[in-house]
Amino acid sequence: MGLLDANISKHNVLVTSVDNVLNWARLSSLWPMGFGLACCAIEMMATNASNYDLERFGIFPRSSPRQSDLMIVAGTVTMKMAERVVRLYEQMPEPRYVLSMGSCSNCGGPYWKHGYHVLKGVDRIIPVDVYVPGCPPRPESLIGGLLKIQELVRMEQIGISRAEALKKLQEKSIDPGQLIQDARQGVEAS
Ligand code: SF4
Repeated sequence: MGLLDANISKHNVLVTSVDNVLNWARLSSLWPMGFGLACCAIEMMATNASNYDLERFGIFPRSSPRQSDLMIVAGTVTMKMAERVVRLYEQMPEPRYVLSMGSCSNCGGPYWKHGYHVLKGVDRIIPVDVYVPGCPPRPESLIGGLLKIQELVRMEQIGISRAEALKKLQEKSIDPGQLIQDARQGVEAS
């Protein structure tokens, strides 16, 4: 054993990268915003309850977007709600993540064809990191999606990946007010 190794083991020193330590801390304390939009939210609540116990992953809901780093879009995103979803997303600090839970949030779900009042996918207004399929997805599926978010955080390089994500967000950004206006005009015309 070299001099360096001896000192390290004596003082319980671990050698790792800053990325590893910070990512480990962040992925072990994901705080989703406590809000739900429709029936999928019931499954989300069940996932937080004692049977599934999300807190063992360090995941527990916060009641303010300013204290949250994860948005779980659980349910149907109506045109009326779309603007509020964007506002809540904008109030969350970086780095922030979005998990789209269920068919409604992923693509409009059962409202895909005739739901003039439903947004056909929340990714039209905010960037989504992970999609969880199902109508509704079971708690196990949601937990699978949350583990994917944790993997995403684990792979990040501090200061680089989020900047790239922001750039993509700016390129993709859509005015939700315009989207709602277009939908209303479509209904009036039909
Ligand atoms: S995906 Fe199904 S369960 Fe979830 S909000 Fe839509 S209709 Fe309800």
